[in-house]
Amino acid sequence: MKLHPVDTGSETLRLMNNSDQSILSWKGIIHQYSRYLPVKSEDAVISLNEGNTPLIRADNFAKSIGGDFEIWLKFEGLNPTCSFKDRGMTVAVSAAVQKGAETVVCASTGNTSASAAAYAARAGISCTVILPHGKIAQGKLAQALMYGATVIAVEGNFDQALQIVRELGSIDKVEVVNSINPLRIEGQKTAAFEICDTLQRAPDYHFLPVGNAGNITAYWRGFKDYFSIQKTDRLPAMFGFQAAGAAPIVNGEPVANPETVATAIRIGNPASWQGANTALQESKGFIDKVEDEEIIHAYKLVAKTEGLFVEPASAAPLAGLIRCAKENRIPSGSVITASMTGHGLKDPDTAINNAGFSPIVIKPELDEVLKTMGL
Ligand SMILES: *Cc1c(COP(=O)(O)O)cnc(C)c1O
Repeated sequence: MKLHPVDTGSETLRLMNNSDQSILSWKGIIHQYSRYLPVKSEDAVISLNEGNTPLIRADNFAKSIGGDFEIWLKFEGLNPTCSFKDRGMTVAVSAAVQKGAETVVCASTGNTSASAAAYAARAGISCTVILPHGKIAQGKLAQALMYGATVIAVEGNFDQALQIVRELGSIDKVEVVNSINPLRIEGQKTAAFEICDTLQRAPDYHFLPVGNAGNITAYWRGFKDYFSIQKTDRLPAMFGFQAAGAAPIVNGEPVANPETVATAIRIGNPASWQGANTALQESKGFIDKVEDEEIIHAYKLVAKTEGLFVEPASAAPLAGLIRCAKENRIPSGSVITASMTGHGLKDPDTAINNAGFSPIVIKPELDEVLKTMGL
C-alpha cells in the first residue's frame, strides 16, 4: 500500500493510507509493514496499535540553537507504553506466542520492562522483568507493576541484569525479549520507514540516543531496507549520542559503573555494540558523548520551545545537535530527523527536580493571583 503524508496544518505529520482509510484504521506496525518483517499480519499478532507516531517539525528549537536546518522530531513517546520499545515488542511477543512461549523475560532500564509487561498482558502470558534496583524512573516502574509483571530488582546495574536474563533464555517456554532477540530490532526499524514515508524522502542526518545500541542498529537497517528497494534516494548519516558517564562506544571500552541522569541509556556494555559500529561506519556517521548538564539543558529547551516533553535519554541527541550546530558540523539546509525515544511523564522526578521552580503558593484571592501574574 502506498503511503503519503498528510499535513494537518500544524507541521505535525502522521501517516495515512491513501485511499478511503483514515488514520483511525491504523492497526499497528506488523499490519502496516508486514512485507518487511518476519512476522506476518495473517499470523496471530499481539498488538496495541503501536507506531504511526507524529513527526513534528521543530523550527522554534532550531532557531533557539542557531541552526540553519530543518529539524523533525519523531515523537516515539506517543506509542502505547510511551516509548519506541513497543515497535520491537509487538514482533517479539507475537513470535514468542506463536512458538508456544508461556513467559517472557527481560532485563531493563525501565522502558523494555513496561513494554514487555504490556504486550505479555495483551497476549495472556506471564512476564518477569529484572531491573537495576533504585535506578528506574517512577513512571516505568508504575507501568510494569500495573501490567501485572513479576518485577525483580537486583542490587546491580543493567548489564548484570542482562547477564542473568541471557541464562534464563535456555529454559523451555521462556522467551527473552531484550534487543538481543533479533525480532526486536526488526520491529524497531519501522520507525525509519515511517520517517521516510512521512517526509517522502530519507533525511540527511538521523540523530538518536545510544544505550544498548539496538535502536541505532534498527534505524540503520530500516533506512537501508528502503534504500535498497529504491523507496528512497539517499541514506542518512547516523549520529548517536551517549551520556558522558555511560559512553562505552565513544570511549572504546566497557564502563563498569555507568552513571547518568538519563537512566534509559545508563548502560556500560551495549549488546548491539557491533550493530552500532556498522551503522556508524556504513553511514559515515558520528558518535559522541554529552554531559548530564547538556542533556538537562536540551530537555528543558525542547519542552519550552516546542511543547514537547520527552524523557532525559531522548534529550541526549538534542544536546548533541546543539553541539553540532556550535561546531558547524551540519551543512545549512540539511534535513535532520531525531528520535524522541520516550515520554517525559515516564520520569516525573527528574522534571520536578530540574524545572528550577515550584508552584507559587498564595491565598485563594483574585488580587493575589493578579499580583503574582504581574497585572
Ligand atoms: C531503550 C531506550 C533508549 C536506548 O535505546 P538502545 O536501543 O538501548 O540504544 C533510549 N531512550 C529511551 C527512552 C529508551 O527507552
